[in-house]
Amino acid sequence: MRHRYIFIVGGVMSGVGKGTSSAALGLTLKARGFSVTAVKIDPYVNVDAGTMNPVEHGEVFVTIDGDETDQDIGNYERFLDEDITSLNYMTTGRVYQSVIERERRGDYHGKCVEVVPRVPEEVIDRLEKAAKNAKADFVLVEIGGTVGEYENILFLEAIRMMKLKNPDDVRTVLVSYLPVPPSIGEMKTKPTQHAVREVNRIGINPEFLICRSEVALDAPRREKLSRFCGVHPSHIITAPNARSIYEVPKLFDEQGFADSMLKSFRMKSRMIPDLTAWNSLVNIIETVDRPVRIGVIGKYFSTGDFVLSDAYLSVLEAIKHAAWSIHRKPVIEWLNSEAYEQDPSRLKELDDFDGVLVPGGWGSRGIEGKIAAIRYVREHNIPYFGICYGMQCAVIEYARSVLELTDAHTTEIAPKTQNPVIHLMNDQAKKLKETGIGGTLRLGSYPCDLKTGSISRTAYGSNSTDERHRHRYEFNNDYRQQLIDAGLIIAGTSPDNRLVEIIEIPNHPFFVGVQFHPEFQSRPLRPHPLFVGFLKAASIRKKK
Ligand code: GLN
Repeated sequence: MRHRYIFIVGGVMSGVGKGTSSAALGLTLKARGFSVTAVKIDPYVNVDAGTMNPVEHGEVFVTIDGDETDQDIGNYERFLDEDITSLNYMTTGRVYQSVIERERRGDYHGKCVEVVPRVPEEVIDRLEKAAKNAKADFVLVEIGGTVGEYENILFLEAIRMMKLKNPDDVRTVLVSYLPVPPSIGEMKTKPTQHAVREVNRIGINPEFLICRSEVALDAPRREKLSRFCGVHPSHIITAPNARSIYEVPKLFDEQGFADSMLKSFRMKSRMIPDLTAWNSLVNIIETVDRPVRIGVIGKYFSTGDFVLSDAYLSVLEAIKHAAWSIHRKPVIEWLNSEAYEQDPSRLKELDDFDGVLVPGGWGSRGIEGKIAAIRYVREHNIPYFGICYGMQCAVIEYARSVLELTDAHTTEIAPKTQNPVIHLMNDQAKKLKETGIGGTLRLGSYPCDLKTGSISRTAYGSNSTDERHRHRYEFNNDYRQQLIDAGLIIAGTSPDNRLVEIIEIPNHPFFVGVQFHPEFQSRPLRPHPLFVGFLKAASIRKKK
């Protein structure tokens, strides 16, 4: 099978939407009857994203096979509606690790192992494996960072080497940013021209340009860019700020982007592109006006003066998908759990929400605020959805308030507590001792059996499911019977009944805590059933 590779590189600055652009291009190619997969390259030395701070790097996205990857992989899954595996994620650390392992095995037969070509060769090898594994007609390869940084130079070299070998199968798209400085009031193309020069210097001329900016590109600037960057005018795509990222495929299709791409490969569409379902979703996004207000309680929100919600990107998207599916406009507010510790009277603000969600988290900062908030929503019948730490905190809260085990805790925070309702299972404890923190989490997809009659079972409409995990601590089975006797419902367990995966509370509009991360499996056109259940309960909440 012949695979084509489309590299997406960034110019001028990061964070302008390379990921969204390539995901959108991928979707429009898929709509033309091709199989598409996407690879993300992170130029960091970290082996995976698991050890990176989510405030700085954004969410850690977990794949079905348990890789801790970049949030862009999540975007690809959402746009392409495909599960993407570990093969499709690489970092500088990972690439070097393989080269070094190979050298140690003696695979280079006594040769001096030079960075070029060995490192780019390893990159190409991985890309070819990903292509083969996904049986992909097209592999979109997003290279993190911007051109001109020395971090990604070896990845750019891989493009050059691949192109040298198969010029007909490789294309490069530069996603650039065109500023409109307020003092000048005119869109400037010069930074983009420089970015193109920068890639030219290493022997690549991008065939396509995506021009990100506040406003659309006009004719004179398109001409200028074409002339100075050596890109055909029809290959210059304008990408002004969209109302939502889900609108981007439509914006691309209106400019015939996918068709020009196919033409540049001397290929033709295999079918009349059908984006009807997708575009009717975009229509819903743009027209829904009845709000549903969800408060998300966490701590990973700020860096300096900036509030970054990327740390919970998939949670945010999952709430939106579910809200749109019931024709509601999601209004999401970030609530800082530490504020409830400093001033418990602030808990009253939770009354203003239709639903409250506590997402995954780590460490002691803000945990008492989360537990206080969970108690508040449990007692005030406010729909609650707890994810991972949010489930563990709900168990702690229930044990403290209902079983009156006032020191109940997770051993993550209180290793010596008399009542470790959340703890490390023996095998995990052993692993942690042996290997340190890297690689000791329970990661990836695991099956879960659902209890008949539970809210979760009804929401899923099936008696089992598979969900992705990323945590170290577990529900302590020593407390299982006591908690059940006190009313807690164990709504989901591992098939061997050893691990508690879902807890619920009866006589409440919606109170569900899950040990896994359902947000990773929510897709725009296939919202996650538990999020839909939560949003439905929230949308019918009658506030006082
Ligand atoms: N810190 C908790 C654990 O390790 C929860 C992790 C999470 O919420 N992802 O189990």
